[in-house]
Amino acid sequence: MSHRRVIVWDFDGTLGHRRHGTWAECLMEILDRQQPGHPFTRDRLFTALATGFPWHEHQRPHPHLADPDRWWNHITSVVTRALVGLGAPLHLAESIASHVRAAYREPTAWSLYPQTTAVLQMLTASGWDHVILSNHVPELPAILDALRLMPYVYAVVNSARTGFEKPHPQAFELARAAAAPAPCAYMVGDNPQADVAGAQAAGLHAIWVRRDEPSHIPDLHEAARLILRRTQEPNSRPELPRTWEVAPLDTGTATRTASIR
Ligand SMILES: [Mg+2]
Repeated sequence: MSHRRVIVWDFDGTLGHRRHGTWAECLMEILDRQQPGHPFTRDRLFTALATGFPWHEHQRPHPHLADPDRWWNHITSVVTRALVGLGAPLHLAESIASHVRAAYREPTAWSLYPQTTAVLQMLTASGWDHVILSNHVPELPAILDALRLMPYVYAVVNSARTGFEKPHPQAFELARAAAAPAPCAYMVGDNPQADVAGAQAAGLHAIWVRRDEPSHIPDLHEAARLILRRTQEPNSRPELPRTWEVAPLDTGTATRTASIR
């Protein structure tokens, strides 16, 4: 019988990231390429794209979008509406939005953080398996494959395929089901609501790898040290779910880890 246990990981902003930014930045790239001299700014796009994505309404499951074409048609309509709201003519908004699917899911636009592979390797060797629980695009497995992460990943639970966005409790139940029969012990993520609050509500310990700025790099080594240190503690009795906060790398913070609950 296996005694392995499972760590549930967020992907975006925790293990990897889209190097030049997410949706607003992706749209800027397309606009700069297709419409040089356009009047839009990154900040206006960011504000316009702050509603309408599936994860903005995590309390509402969306099993009807659990198909890549349907999912991307929904996103394309959200982007079109955002551009029209910013004053773009409909034909231009539709044309620009039609490029988002190919641009956003392009695997070469994504990178792992510098510690990711080494930390997953080390934890795997120490008896931990890894489930990725992500609010993401349907093509997340292809992105993970291109980043050579799949050899370390036991299962991927992706909201675009399941219809449940973190912090919805069912997202965490699906992660548990994917990990079974091994128990899930920790959630590691950069989002205090989706990852940390969601994990706490689901009865998991949470490690919040903080990133105060989009450019910050999560300190995964410190998260791994914390898990291994606690595993080695004697007489670890069942306890209520706890949360630890890990500061980002290279921000000069003296105390890297703090227990916040
Ligand atoms: Mg994240």
